[in-house]
Amino acid sequence: MAVKTQKKPQTQPAKKPVGKTASTIPVTLIPGDGIGPEVTEATLTVLEAVGAPFTYEWHLAGVAGLQKAGDPLPKATIESIRKTRLALKGPLATPVGGGFRSSNVRLREEFHLFANLRPARTLIPGGRYENIDLVLVRENLEGLYVGFEHYIPVGDDPHAVALASGVNTRAGGRRICEFAFEYAVKNNRKKVTLVHKANVLKALTGLFLEAGRDVAKGYEGRVACDERIIDACAMQLVMNPYQFDVIVTTNLFGDILSDLNAGLVGGLGMAPAGNIGKDAAIFEAVHGSAPDIAGKGVANPLALMLSAAMMLDHVGHQDKAQRVQKAIDDVLLKDKVRTGDLGGKANTKQFTQAVVARLK
Ligand code: NAD
Repeated sequence: MAVKTQKKPQTQPAKKPVGKTASTIPVTLIPGDGIGPEVTEATLTVLEAVGAPFTYEWHLAGVAGLQKAGDPLPKATIESIRKTRLALKGPLATPVGGGFRSSNVRLREEFHLFANLRPARTLIPGGRYENIDLVLVRENLEGLYVGFEHYIPVGDDPHAVALASGVNTRAGGRRICEFAFEYAVKNNRKKVTLVHKANVLKALTGLFLEAGRDVAKGYEGRVACDERIIDACAMQLVMNPYQFDVIVTTNLFGDILSDLNAGLVGGLGMAPAGNIGKDAAIFEAVHGSAPDIAGKGVANPLALMLSAAMMLDHVGHQDKAQRVQKAIDDVLLKDKVRTGDLGGKANTKQFTQAVVARLK
């Protein structure tokens, strides 16, 4: 079944009512900011070529949402995801320091997307390491990202002291660790590593570790479990990444380690992600809106294409997901078509056409 792409209206939802039928799956599509629209268009072309059964509701968020709909997370976008329960999202720009709160974080909270699944796989040999195949499971809702922050003024300085509180719950720790172990079982992974800082943040990350150890007991004999302190884990990932398989950790550590893992396989341009909850899932590239190259047509669309493959996998189309992955592998390795960030000469469109050619 061909994909129905509605490539134009970015401020309005799809006119047709969306509803799940046997053959089509409605998806909320958020092209995002910066290079977002370029890599989204490329990804839709590939989804169409593989025969993905999606129909799209186009919506805004981030700076595009603020500029065109007066809100970095417009109500219409939220309503659409509430209905479709599935979204593909380009990067959303967030002001640093002041300004509006990250729409990414708000989306994760709104839809209780507690797990951030970030695989890192070597796509191009000849880098720092060969054959890396790691999966990072990041807790997405708790920890220091809850945004309990404030300043205490002293004398003339209104920002003399900054305070932040993290929040971890036993239930949240159990939920993310169960997700990681279940992922390991379903994907034939051998080991889950619990990453923490319970030697210093004894309550905040000690509780996560306690919950993880408890969950691990239920998988004894099926999935091995070990533990690392975050700083040692970062060093060991750089020294010998092969000792890890699935890593599960709290929000901030997961954010940092997933970029580290992306670095092990050649950078952010290759890293896909899924934000997964009980009732909804949002798939996105790990990279940001890359304002330095936006509009130039040179962005690498691979990470969003791989995120779309994860979305296909998530909705039960493993065969199509594998075809997209294989086509990308062939384009990179056999055709040697690569974008500039990977040392190649192809622009976004040329890379996309190469993937489409492989799919056909
Ligand atoms: P970035 O990922 O946008 O860019 C970092 C560097 O990587 C830049 O040099 C950029 O050109 C390059 N790069 C990134 N993606 C690329 C791609 N697909 N192809 C080729 N090169 C690519 O990170 P940043 O500059 O720190 O952030 C820019 C904006 O993106 C910020 O507003 C930030 O908040 C936002 N951001 C959004 C998300 C998200 O929506 N998930 C994630 C990270 C950052």
